Amino acid sequence: MNSSLDGLRREVRELCRAWREAGRYRPRPDAWLRSFDLAFSKELAERGWLGMTWPRSVGGGERSNLARLVLTEELLRAGAPVAAHWIGDRQIGPAVLRYGSERLQQEVLPGIAAAEHVFCLGMSEPDAGSDLAAVRTTATRVPGGWRIDGRKIWTSHAHRATHAYLLARSEKSEVKHAGLTEFVLDMDSPGVSVSPIVDMAGSHHFNEVVFENVFVPEHRVIGTVGDGWKQVTEQLSYERGGPERVLSTYPVLAELLEVADDGLLEEVGELVARLGTLRALCVRVAEAMDAGEAPVQAAATLKYLGTAFERDVLECARRATGSGVVDPGSALGEAILASPGFGIRGGSSEVLLSILAKQEARR
Ligand SMILES: Cc1cc2nc3c(=O)[nH]c(=O)nc-3n(C[C@H](O)[C@H](O)[C@H](O)COP(=O)(O)OP(=O)(O)OC[C@H]3O[C@@H](n4cnc5c(N)ncnc54)[C@H](O)[C@@H]3O)c2cc1C
Repeated sequence: MNSSLDGLRREVRELCRAWREAGRYRPRPDAWLRSFDLAFSKELAERGWLGMTWPRSVGGGERSNLARLVLTEELLRAGAPVAAHWIGDRQIGPAVLRYGSERLQQEVLPGIAAAEHVFCLGMSEPDAGSDLAAVRTTATRVPGGWRIDGRKIWTSHAHRATHAYLLARSEKSEVKHAGLTEFVLDMDSPGVSVSPIVDMAGSHHFNEVVFENVFVPEHRVIGTVGDGWKQVTEQLSYERGGPERVLSTYPVLAELLEVADDGLLEEVGELVARLGTLRALCVRVAEAMDAGEAPVQAAATLKYLGTAFERDVLECARRATGSGVVDPGSALGEAILASPGFGIRGGSSEVLLSILAKQEARR
C-alpha cells in the first residue's frame, strides 16, 4: 500500500497503544459493532479522522479512501472501540454526500465528522431482511414533509443513536423495488420507540424500533423520492466493502500467531496469505471509491470471501486450544459467540452469491 501513508498508520497505532495502556479500552473482536465509546470517537474526530474523505465545506478532511483504509485497518487490528461513529462515517455520510441536498449535507455531515451525531441503520424489518425490497414501513406525504409508520428490527445502537437512516415505502407499486425512499430522522422525534434485543452473547446492541405517526420534514429525504432502491444498493457497497469484513476476528488471529505450534503453522500461514489477498481487494474497493464509483460487485466479493476467512480464523484458533474448551470471556470466546452473525449481517453469504452470479450472467 502507498508508503506515504505510513505516518498515518504509525499515528493510529500510537493512539490505540496509548489508550490501551491507559486502560481506556480492552481490544475486542467485532469491536466496530460491539465496542461503543463516544469519547474515543471524539478523539478521532479531533484528529480529523472522521469524515476524512469528505469536502472541508462539510467538516471533512479531503483525504483519499486509501488513507481512510489505513486508518480503519489499524483501528480494527487494535480492536478499538469505534462503534459510535462507524455507521455514520462508513455509509450514511457517503450516501448523503452522494445524493443528499446541500441543506441535508450541512445538517448531517459536520455532526458525523465531529462525533456529535450517532447514526443507526433502519433497513431490516421482521419480514424484510435478505429481501430488503419487501420493506413495509410507510412514508405518507403530509404538509411540509412525510409521516412514517412501521417497524424496524436488528437496529444496532438505536438506543444510543441521535439519528436514524430509514428506508421506507413511499408509493404502492406492482414492482417491489420501485416506490422506496430514503430518509434521515431524529431519534428523539415524537412517535419513535426503541426496545432492546439482547443477543446470545448477553450483549445489547440490537433493538426493535417502532415508528408511529412520526413526522419527517421534506428536506430530510435523501436524494430522489421513489429512487431508494438504486440509492440503497450503492450504499450497501460502502457497508460491505470495508476491512471490517475481514478483520472482525483479527485480535484472535494475532493471538494465534503468538501460540501456533508446528502442527498449525501451515494452516496459520495459509490464513495470513489469504489475509494479504483480501487486503488487496480492500485496496481495490477504496481505489474505486476514490474514482467516484460505488463498487457493488467488488464489495459483495469482499464480504463473501471475508466472512469465510473470519470463520476459518476462529476454527483454527479453536483447534489451537487443544481441548476445544473456550472461555466465553476470552477474545476467542467473544468472537465465537458473535460469529453466527458474520454471514448474515450486511447481506447474507447466500444473497451475496446470488448478486455475484447475476452479475456474471450479464457479462
Ligand atoms: C450482527 C448484526 C447486526 C445487524 N445490524 C443491523 C442494523 O443495524 N440495521 C439493520 O437494518 N439490520 C441489521 N441487521 C440485519 C441484517 O442485515 C439481516 O439480518 C439480514 O439482512 C438477513 O435478514 P433476516 O435476518 O431477515 O434473515 P432472512 O432474510 O430470513 O434469511 C435467513 C437465511 O435464509 C437465507 N436466504 C434468504 N433469502 C434467500 C434467497 N433468496 N436465496 C438463498 N438463501 C436465502 C439467508 O441467506 C439466511 O441464511 C443486523 C444483523 C446482524 C446479524
